[in-house]
Amino acid sequence: MGEQSDALVLFGVTGDLAFKQVFPALQALIRRGQLSVPIVGVARSGWTLEQLRDRARQSLEAHGGVDAAAFARMSELFRYVDGDYRDPATYVRLREALGTAARPLHYLAIPPSLFAVVAEGLASSGCTPGARVVVEKPFGRDLASARELNTTLHRFFREADIFRIDHYLGKEPVQNLLYYRFANSFLEPVWNRNYIRQIQITMAESFGVRGRGKFYEEAGAIRDVVQNHLLQVVSLLAMEPPSGSDTEAVRDAKGQAFRVIRPLQPADVVRGQFAGYRNEPGVAPDSEVETFAAVRLQLDSWRWAGVPFFIRAGKCLPVTATEVFVELKRPPQALFADAATSPANCFRFRLSPHVVLSLAARAKLPGEAMVGEDVELVSCHERADEMAPYERLLRDAMRGDQMLFAREDAVERAWRVVDPVLGSGTTPLETYAAGSWGPTEADCLTAATGGWHQPAEESGC
Ligand code: NDP
Repeated sequence: MGEQSDALVLFGVTGDLAFKQVFPALQALIRRGQLSVPIVGVARSGWTLEQLRDRARQSLEAHGGVDAAAFARMSELFRYVDGDYRDPATYVRLREALGTAARPLHYLAIPPSLFAVVAEGLASSGCTPGARVVVEKPFGRDLASARELNTTLHRFFREADIFRIDHYLGKEPVQNLLYYRFANSFLEPVWNRNYIRQIQITMAESFGVRGRGKFYEEAGAIRDVVQNHLLQVVSLLAMEPPSGSDTEAVRDAKGQAFRVIRPLQPADVVRGQFAGYRNEPGVAPDSEVETFAAVRLQLDSWRWAGVPFFIRAGKCLPVTATEVFVELKRPPQALFADAATSPANCFRFRLSPHVVLSLAARAKLPGEAMVGEDVELVSCHERADEMAPYERLLRDAMRGDQMLFAREDAVERAWRVVDPVLGSGTTPLETYAAGSWGPTEADCLTAATGGWHQPAEESGC
């Protein structure tokens, strides 16, 4: 951690992300007394300061409500600089607006094609010394572009000052995976190839692209959630114990986990598209973009050799749920006939909508016969997120804490995993019916390990 940033610059302040996530996060931080520095919005909409305040108010009304006192303070902290990001004069005005601020945090909530342009503009106007930069996802489109972007950013910023957002890392239940694994001793003896048969991660959404077809056409499921969110979850599940709880110790251990994931081959991947996607606004009538992806990962490490990690992510699936399913091997001898055919022991980590940790086991039914039933020991937190991810991430970036941000090596290694199967030329695209669990071809991936575990719809804890 370093010194607190003394100004927050919001590139893309008029955009969708600012409206949906950033203004609510700012209000929450101000309410907690964790943000009191000037907030400088930069965009090219020709707005006045009053228009910026109006927009912030509308955002808050739509996302959780306006806190009068916090909003009044936020309004005082706002500044607005108008100008095109390609125009050097914009950055001269920004430098003026920053006044004596010596350690600004520049948040780039802008189209990725402009990351490099803005970084250069900031450098040429003296806005980079002492500064930090937050870069929104997607961080590159493939390994080559991610490397290029890293090289560009490193021309102007030190790695310690670059914050690559993967808002998934800011989620309470995702942090809980790390905590649960290493705050307990009972897991470690079984957390390896000797006891674990397979791990499955499902991120199911029961809705489609919700009017964001144009954005989705540039992404697809592999780029949108597999390369970043879900591989990050894999790294938390697969990592070795870190040498300490400090940022670099944890990121070193995660980096090592990424290193052992074998790059995907076409035979390990099934891509699907829900019927009707091509009729969505902004989607090409012959689009080959996947709205579903299922992959089988292999990890080359002493701990995980031979244990398949499956990831499945899709839109228009039967439920909205993100769940990790860890299946243990069966006992070496089947002493009780009924237990031999019952489901194996498993851990279940529900990451959303609620946070659930559970261990499924067999327990004897009362009575003379040695027969049992499946029981599940469950811990459930109704309130998944005490603090919204964007609030937590902005707070951390302002104080220079990189724990919840992706490091250069992790981002590049994650791209290295998916790079061989990106695009429509590498694997066929299967069609699936909306409301189904995706194309039947995906079942082949898990056929040898008993099929997919289907997360249930949840009504609450
Ligand atoms: P938008 O298209 O809604 O907003 C883009 C912003 O950039 C606007 O404020 C726009 O200003 C500004 N801008 C674009 N070009 C210029 C330019 N040449 N000069 C000055 N300003 C410019 O994008 P989003 O908010 O949706 O996304 C921003 C980033 O966040 C992207 O990297 C995206 O991938 C990422 N992201 C977005 C999510 C979302 O839910 N929206 C979710 C996760 C990540 P103006 O309006 O004045 O033109």
